[in-house]
Amino acid sequence: AGEVRFDDVHFAYIPERQILKGISFTVPPGKTIAIVGPSGAGKSTISRLLFRFYEPQKGRILIDGQDIATIQQVSLRSAIGMVPQDTVLFNDTIEYNIRYGRPEATQAEIAEAARLAQIDRFIKSLPEGYATSVGERGLKLSGGEKQRVAIARTILKGPPVLVLDEATSALDSFTEKEIQDALDRVSQGRTTLVIAHRLSTVINADEIIVLDKGLIVERGHHRELLAAD
Ligand code: ADP
Ligand code: ADP
Repeated sequence: AGEVRFDDVHFAYIPERQILKGISFTVPPGKTIAIVGPSGAGKSTISRLLFRFYEPQKGRILIDGQDIATIQQVSLRSAIGMVPQDTVLFNDTIEYNIRYGRPEATQAEIAEAARLAQIDRFIKSLPEGYATSVGERGLKLSGGEKQRVAIARTILKGPPVLVLDEATSALDSFTEKEIQDALDRVSQGRTTLVIAHRLSTVINADEIIVLDKGLIVERGHHRELLAAD
């Protein structure tokens, strides 16, 4: 379960400017597809459409063959784990932030999610800004670290489909190799769509789709794309 299919999807936020001009691709169950391309190409729009923040004007988006327009919001939200680029944390421990939405999660499940997202070393910490009221200093997390807290929270919910908009700020604390590793771990056994800002962090994706000005201009494995350059 967890096949995602875009079928000739057209989309414009405002009528005079087409953002997606007929996008078709399939993410087979359990596979990882990365979408790369210049800023403004329409990459994040694809993830917003999949989560039904907006509706395509033409074409369809299907999960396991079912048009998402016919899926109830609540079911869609449990089927798709969305990790946005910018994550706002609650003023409580990182552990609380991971557990949020899954109060019944066991300690072992939380530890496993934190390990996969590689934030296990600070789950007992508080984010910066909290703690003054309780006399502790919070931990200043980078954008990439905050995003990994959101990744752990999403893994814990266990959705069959994961959509990850790779934080552009991830590199401030994390090497490309570490981003690759984190991605490989969290995407294992899950249908994963990664909105990637660097080709170098998604070398293990099953397929890379290159988007430019709302069209798919190239697709293939990392090695093939490099060879074509
Ligand atoms: P990418 O993720 O590839 O950088 P986006 O999908 O975020 O690109 O945006 C594609 C284009 O759509 C950009 O030109 C952007 O300015 C425009 N856009 C994004 N969101 C909106 C919006 N809410 N209203 C109007 N235009 C938007
Ligand atoms: P993996 O291949 O990542 O080890 P499995 O195939 O064992 O995962 O996972 C079976 C189901 O459990 C999948 O739907 C997956 O999304 C979910 N899952 C995997 N790891 C976790 C986790 N740490 N917490 C919650 N759900 C998980």
